Amino acid sequence: MRILAIHAHPDDIEYFAAGTLYMLKQNGHEIFIATMTAGDKGSKAMDPIQTANIRREEAARAARVIGAEYACLEFGDYEVFDTDNARRKTTEHIRRVAPDILLTAPPTDYHADHEAASRLTRYASFAVGLPNYVTGRAPCLDQVPALYYMDPAGGVDLFGNRVDPDFVVNITSAMEIKKDMLACHESQRDWLRSYHGVDNFLEDLVEWSRSRGETYGVPFAEGFKQHKGFAYPQENLLAQCLPSEVMVMVYPKA
Ligand SMILES: [Zn+2]
Repeated sequence: MRILAIHAHPDDIEYFAAGTLYMLKQNGHEIFIATMTAGDKGSKAMDPIQTANIRREEAARAARVIGAEYACLEFGDYEVFDTDNARRKTTEHIRRVAPDILLTAPPTDYHADHEAASRLTRYASFAVGLPNYVTGRAPCLDQVPALYYMDPAGGVDLFGNRVDPDFVVNITSAMEIKKDMLACHESQRDWLRSYHGVDNFLEDLVEWSRSRGETYGVPFAEGFKQHKGFAYPQENLLAQCLPSEVMVMVYPKA
């Protein structure tokens, strides 16, 4: 199957879905990664154009670690909105990749761009099959892809309440690759050090994946929720793409 992951910024996908994407790749599926922005505001020392050039390259390098194709939709940081143009651009990208499965940011998260990326991906994916919704050269799709939301940062909503995924993927065998992918984002590490005064870039990733796993009884995990709205596939296509022993269902499904 073809799997497209869309999130807001370079390094978000590495944080929330890279282990799963690597395991999907290992199981013979094609992986595509896209970010809404090139992370252009993520530097104190460089201007937005320089920063975007570096971060676009880092994101492409991270995608190459798992043999994935990377694309940037070229919005600016803090400039991701649900507009007519943004919806068409996102729909065009989904049509171009023609994924069976789409992974995106959670509907509720700490960052405006994350929430906008989630909304845009959801609204754009609904429109991929409308022939009169013209977005560019990519052909209309026959089927809306199965849509999944990644975990929000810290696994909590805006009020600190736990957001339970539908299932987690045991990514223990993919942890080293996940770290390798995040490590490609060297400029982000410098930025976090100067802006937030923290230098626990990789440690943070390991701790988050460990705590996600701990809740569900495995060493390291990534969680996902499936969008079940009208027109979207209801069966768990993602589960069909991975060995059953790595899937930990959070709630028994009827
Ligand atoms: Zn982000």
